[in-house]
Amino acid sequence: MTTKHHPLPVIDTQRCTGCGICVAGCPTKTIALHNERAVIAHPDACTFCELCEINCPEQAIGRPFRVVFATGTDTTKPAHDSDETTH
Ligand code: SF4
Ligand code: SF4
Repeated sequence: MTTKHHPLPVIDTQRCTGCGICVAGCPTKTIALHNERAVIAHPDACTFCELCEINCPEQAIGRPFRVVFATGTDTTKPAHDSDETTH
């Protein structure tokens, strides 16, 4: 039994080309290739580091709880972070 609880990257198998970049770049070897598609082979190993999402040229892998703002800035912090609109 594990007490670890965090979301895992989600892989869009329609977009994934099986290039293996995410596999090579994952520091914890969470991802593997299976039938020429990326799969989460070791979910407990994932540290949610974001590298796979950054490295994928097809935007085929991403972390499900991430909120993407139009500016493309990091969004791991709360959305109410000093939101000043001066103009
Ligand atoms: S980097 Fe993207 S396209 Fe390449 S294997 Fe991983 S998920 Fe698929
Ligand atoms: S978020 Fe990091 S640890 Fe998890 S699968 Fe992607 S690259 Fe590997």
